[in-house]
This record gives sequence, C-alpha cells and structure tokens, in this order.
Amino acid sequence: NLTKHFSAGRGGFFSGKRGVVRAVEDVSFSVARGETLAIVGESGCGKTTLGRLILRLIEADHGRIEIAGTDIRTLDDTAMRKLRRRLQIVIQDPFGSLNPRMLIGQAIMEPLDIHAVGTNAERRARLAELLDLVGLPQDFANRFPHQLSGGQRQRVGIARALALETDLLVCDEAVSALDVSVQAQIINLLQKLKRERGLTYLFISHDIAIVRHIADRIGVMYLGELVEIAPRARLFSTPAHPYTQALLKSAPRARVHERPEIVLKGDIPSPIDPPTGCRFHTRCPHVMEICRSTPPARTQLAPGHAARCHLLDPALAAKGQTA
Ligand code: SF4
Repeated sequence: NLTKHFSAGRGGFFSGKRGVVRAVEDVSFSVARGETLAIVGESGCGKTTLGRLILRLIEADHGRIEIAGTDIRTLDDTAMRKLRRRLQIVIQDPFGSLNPRMLIGQAIMEPLDIHAVGTNAERRARLAELLDLVGLPQDFANRFPHQLSGGQRQRVGIARALALETDLLVCDEAVSALDVSVQAQIINLLQKLKRERGLTYLFISHDIAIVRHIADRIGVMYLGELVEIAPRARLFSTPAHPYTQALLKSAPRARVHERPEIVLKGDIPSPIDPPTGCRFHTRCPHVMEICRSTPPARTQLAPGHAARCHLLDPALAAKGQTA
C-alpha cells in the first residue's frame, strides 16, 4: 500500500499548476528472491518514484516495505545504512552518476570506502573481480568516465552497484539511453549476473519490448497506480486491463531493436489532481458511467494475475453495471 504525494508549486516540471502530485497511490506487490519484476508505464506514471521509495531514497507517506518480514521503514539510520549494502540502484544516465574527475577504479570502490569494507589490498582485489564480472578490461580502472562509451559507463554503474553484498538491484531505465546493440549486451549481462549471483531485480522501464526480454513478472502503472500485474507470458497472452491492451497493441512483437515508445491516443492527464474514479477513464475506449466516479477494486483473475478495472469485477458484472 505504498503511497507518495508531493506538493507542486508554480514553476519546475509542473509549471503553471498548483496542487498535489499523486505520484504513487496505494501500490502493492511482492518480489521473490531471484525474480525479475518489471514495472512499465509511460513517463510520469510514478515508476521511478516507486523505485526510490522501495530503496528509501525518498520516504513514503504511507505503506510498508517488507524485506524478509521486517518493515524497513521502521529501521533507524544505523540499521538502514547496514541494509543499504544489499539494496542498490542503476540509473539511466551512467555519465551523470559518475564523478568526471574520479578514475573508474575509484568510482567502483567508492561504496566500499563509504561502508569501510575491507583493507586496501582486499578492495583492490575486489575491484579486479568486479571489472571482470562486468566484462571490462582491468586497465579501465585508470581511465576517466569521458574516456568510456555509454555501454562501458553503464557496466561501471553495474559494477559499483554490485561492489557490496547486493541482493536487490533497482534498474531504473538502465538501458534506455543506450544504442540498441549495447542494450542487448547490458541485458545479457544483467541476466548472467542474476543467474550467477542470485540477484533480484526491480526493472523499471517505459519500453515494453525490452521488458519482454528480461521480466519474470510485469506490473503496469498508470498515473501512480498499479493497474495490472501478471506473469510475463500471461500478460502478453491475456492482458486484462484496457491500458495494458493499448500498450501491447502499440508495441511490435518481441523485437527489441524496434523499441517503440508507448503510444496511446490522447495525452496522459496531469498527476496533479488526476481524474476521479478510474484514472484511465479519460482515455479508455470502454469507459462506463461508474468509471468516472468510483475507483475500481483489484480483481484477482488467476494465480499471480490481478487488475483494477470495473469490467473485470464479478460483483458489478452480476449487478449488470458493466453492460
Ligand atoms: Fe476503462 Fe472503466 Fe476499466 Fe477504467 S474501470 S479501465 S475506465 S473500463
């Protein structure tokens, strides 16, 4: 039930509008160890905020984030700092996240310095191991970020994120800025690391074609809400929510190199004071009267497959309200 609202003043990203940005609204899901859960949706749907909430890089307004039964929102700074060794993030722009004056070797070892892990000799050995793990030559340790390509910098970002005892890696549009062939290389690297190290991924992307290549399960977000979640094969074969259906129609069939942006008719409404009832009702081809006023409940459709849409609610169907 994670929820995060921001207040928006004039200026900035939402310039000209005041109000409350309902960035993440009552979102619930679980991720198993060793699983890849992808979160997809158009830009502004709240998926990046969700990733940062889970890592407590920003604090949620409401809700619980449980890891092995502990609500990490209740942990104090010391306990959270210890846990951070296991929770890491890889972001879209590896260049922006690397200090241009810091050598690659220093950048990869920085998390070990921050958490005071190991002796100097142990850190150097770990650096060699990490460069090897992400497929970079050892002499790259002595280069600066501007001497690397985008794909190489993203490998550095992954090595940094794995420097500690990482269990959960949030990949936030981690391949979106890369060329198509490099995207495939980084996805293959992520898959290999997952197999070898038993990592768990929360893979955030606007690109349903890429998600199809990496996810075990997929959650679809629209305007701050999780509108559908299902195992990958089932989501592609039996999408239940009209928004998911529109996303899939806009994507080419499993061709990662075509990678379209999500295309839907009509603009996505502002997350400031979003539409009442079902937030998708302003763009939904199946909109009904009830959709404008009443938020749909979550309907369980099959094991692991749930969606929020009045069309799927058996109680409303029984009353004839979805006719
Ligand atoms: Fe469309 Fe109504 Fe379902 Fe929302 S609840 S997706 S508006 S049919």
